[in-house]
Amino acid sequence: MPEKLLKEIGDFLMALADRKGRSLFLSSRDLKQWSEPLILALKQHQMLKKVTLPKQVTCSGCEEYCGGMDVYSQTKRSGEIVSFVICDKKDDTNRVILEGDELEWWEISLADVTHFLREKLF
Ligand SMILES: [Zn+2]
Repeated sequence: MPEKLLKEIGDFLMALADRKGRSLFLSSRDLKQWSEPLILALKQHQMLKKVTLPKQVTCSGCEEYCGGMDVYSQTKRSGEIVSFVICDKKDDTNRVILEGDELEWWEISLADVTHFLREKLF
């Protein structure tokens, strides 16, 4: 296994440990910062599970990447649902629309990783 991948697995576990038992929620956009083989393997072994849009996300509309922003959804006249966060750090418009890979979310929990390891080890 390449050194880079091993380091990433370690980083991923650390990120999960930082959540202190709570699940880690990542958008498809967030997943792009990890190498593809790792993400594919996590999905394949059902550790990374697709979930609906969380109630809070990180804002990508300003330079600050404000965390824990409430997600609002509104149905347009056309029937299309628009989801957005309201960021007060932007001077033009405070509404940051979530688009494309920001609308697709994944969850990974320590319980799922533990379950996988237990199956493999014993
Ligand atoms: Zn922001």
